[in-house]
Amino acid sequence: MTDLAQDPRWRRFNDREFECPCCGKRFGGVYDVVFDHPDPWGHGNRAKSGEDILWAGKNWLSSDLCVQDGDYFVRCIMPFPIIGSDQSFAFGVWGSVSKDSFKHFYMGFDTSDYGDFTGCFSWLSNNIPHVGQDDWIPCDLMIEDPTKRPVLYAQSKAAAVRAHQENGITFDQLLDIYASAGNDIRPHLLDG
Ligand SMILES: [Zn+2]
Repeated sequence: MTDLAQDPRWRRFNDREFECPCCGKRFGGVYDVVFDHPDPWGHGNRAKSGEDILWAGKNWLSSDLCVQDGDYFVRCIMPFPIIGSDQSFAFGVWGSVSKDSFKHFYMGFDTSDYGDFTGCFSWLSNNIPHVGQDDWIPCDLMIEDPTKRPVLYAQSKAAAVRAHQENGITFDQLLDIYASAGNDIRPHLLDG
């Protein structure tokens, strides 16, 4: 098994003191890639709007909840262990849930007390790159810690993504994901 501690790029990536010789860029190690809204949301970027809740008629989007035209979404975490390390990467994604599941989630959301509600079925509602996703995939949404965001796990039908959640992603996959999200740090981790 690869031990990333032997990979100089990984050491530079996690070393806050390291400065890229070409540009002086510094890195703080693993961070999440977060989606502002579910892909089907058609009313703009909430974070950029500066609003706590972005309204569009009866449709609305907050940092954790979204309702649009009878579809219901919950902001989740989708974790992927990093092979050869003790760290995990996560996508901050949206899961589509039934109206009934949304009601249960909504009831517990403010108080972090979800009662009997431990999770539900959910469709992953963002396109996540480099982990084998080829379409919207069926997931289990789990309330693992009521004080934190719920966690999404790909079901067995979504075999490629599930395998990556169980077995991990490589550091190179992680760097590809960051590049796809607009932060290509690969050239800055090389020798000077
Ligand atoms: Zn650089």
